[in-house]
Amino acid sequence: MDLSIVIPLLNEAESLPELRRWIEKVMHQNQFTYEIIFVDDGSTDDSWKIISEFASESGNIKGIRFQRNYGKSAALQKAFERVEGDVVVTMDADLQDNPEEIPELFDMIVKEGYDLVSGWKKKRFDPISKTIPTKLYNAVLRFMSGIKLHDFNCGLKAYRKNVVKSIEVYGEMHRYLPVLAKWGGFKKVGEKVVSHQARKYGTSKFGMSRFINGPLDLLSIMLVGKFAKRPMHFFGAIGTIMFLLGFLILAYLSASKLWWDETGISERPLFYFGIVALIIGSQLFLTGFLAELVARNSTTRNQYQVSETVGLEKTTMAVPS
Ligand code: UDP
Ligand code: MG
Repeated sequence: MDLSIVIPLLNEAESLPELRRWIEKVMHQNQFTYEIIFVDDGSTDDSWKIISEFASESGNIKGIRFQRNYGKSAALQKAFERVEGDVVVTMDADLQDNPEEIPELFDMIVKEGYDLVSGWKKKRFDPISKTIPTKLYNAVLRFMSGIKLHDFNCGLKAYRKNVVKSIEVYGEMHRYLPVLAKWGGFKKVGEKVVSHQARKYGTSKFGMSRFINGPLDLLSIMLVGKFAKRPMHFFGAIGTIMFLLGFLILAYLSASKLWWDETGISERPLFYFGIVALIIGSQLFLTGFLAELVARNSTTRNQYQVSETVGLEKTTMAVPS
């Protein structure tokens, strides 16, 4: 199968029929073999009814329905576990993403060898309260992740199949899929300018909370990605430096009191700084040590993605899933 098209949706009933017709038109024009997987993320409108009708009319259409709303990341993850196409395309259900872009995204993966191609909504049709923070956020992300993309969170993306099979999207990590892919060892990440429409029906499902949760998720993903397997290197290093600093300060103060400066130690501001540094330093060190024990017990501590082997059966090396 050439293509799996994954569409997470929450209360998008009005958009679905048009979206389906549009995707099918593009698929037929390009003679792709394909599947469309709709993931109903706990909709309370007619979305599921419509998806069930689609599935009974066409063998290419599949649906997954969540019992309640779990979020876009969960929806993507569930679909990624099921996809069969060589190239996996994700898109939003709200008709903001244009299916006509799919053939070119497909070619970039298959012919140009990209692992992941992200859409770039260069000309956006969203309210200004969204576009300006988004610009800033993309700049920070570019700087922190070292991936040169302009639009990390574009819903329209294409992946080589083994990319989605080897990454895990949870929480609200759908905003950082290129970063997750990079950590999975998939380096060839590209982007393509895509056309973008204003939302036709319904309303946006993410409110202002995205500007608080987004950066927090970014912080945890950076820390987890770098230090989850060796927390002591993070906490231990800072802890040791602070402890030493505190110790030196207190040693100096004690010596000065003994030999050359009669002022009481507790009247000197440096004293408090020394004590605090000593205490926080030892706590950080302990935190690192405890985290190390937790990490040793993690069931994923020895999970690595093996992409190829010689002289060995790949199954013996593969990650248990
Ligand atoms: N969505 C979802 N679960 C959620 C929130 C959103 O599946 O909890 C879907 C939504 O139906 C749409 C896509 O994710 O297909 C993008 O959402 P939206 O268009 O509201 O985001 P925006 O374009 O405002 O960033
Ligand atoms: Mg949208």
